[in-house]
Amino acid sequence: MNNQITNVYIWDMDETLILLKSLLNGSYAEAFAGLKDAQKGVEIGKMWEKHILQISDDFFFYEQVCLEIENCNKPFLEALSKYDDGQDLSDYDFNQDGFSPPHDDLNKRKLAYRHRVIANKYKQGLHNILDQEMMDVWDALYKMTDEYTDGWLSSARALLEQCLAGNEDPTICNTIAGGVVRSNATGSRHINVLVTSGSLIPSLVKCLLFRLDNLISHENVYSSWDVGKLQCFQWIKERFDNRNTRFCAIGDGWEECEAAQAMNWPFIKEVAEMQLGQVLLNNCLSFMLVQTQICRCLKLDV
Ligand SMILES: [Mg+2]
Repeated sequence: MNNQITNVYIWDMDETLILLKSLLNGSYAEAFAGLKDAQKGVEIGKMWEKHILQISDDFFFYEQVCLEIENCNKPFLEALSKYDDGQDLSDYDFNQDGFSPPHDDLNKRKLAYRHRVIANKYKQGLHNILDQEMMDVWDALYKMTDEYTDGWLSSARALLEQCLAGNEDPTICNTIAGGVVRSNATGSRHINVLVTSGSLIPSLVKCLLFRLDNLISHENVYSSWDVGKLQCFQWIKERFDNRNTRFCAIGDGWEECEAAQAMNWPFIKEVAEMQLGQVLLNNCLSFMLVQTQICRCLKLDV
């Protein structure tokens, strides 16, 4: 498989794969010039925020790691894996292990343990974490948001799926690099990577809540919060690069656009709010346009 072509898609999250900030500040509704109930958008956004924070705190150590002690945000979950000695954590008491500054090797190991637990919970999915009542609330909120945004969430998911597919009989396999990819008889493989400006733990929870976890594996979620998008892009290039790897970045912001230019990667701007004349693009159509541009940039069959 020396000639196997690898396509790595580097996605922005907010206002690209999901909508949150633009719901909360009303800019999403504004783009529809009175056709959307802005207050409803704000309320939907606040409900998402509440769930993201609650799940981050209750199950993913967010309060303990990033708020109580001091900011221990890392750019990706594997960042401290060399400090993890593999200890069985089934009876480990995360409330009593004395995790605190300074960031010496012992505390890095304690943080690495937390990252291991987070990774395992991500792999298991929210249905193994939430009770039925919470599952129902989440399901209803997802559907309401998808309706309010004319299918933004489901269209984004479909696009991620299409990026991973591109073959008739996909088999999911784990690469050495750790990403979930699909390979096919023609020898090409496709990898979705997320680079978000949010901090790592809530971003992983967002992936779970917005149902992206089976399309983007936990190793492929990067937080540019402390390091910037260009640094994340450079790490991704080092991790996946060989002569047959092609990269493509998709987002809505200047930072990923400039970082992609610096890397000499094609950049595709999310165009869902772009207006053609007076006709606002239907979200489904706009995601199809993104897909077409990806295919063109990477010379894939449409
Ligand atoms: Mg964005």
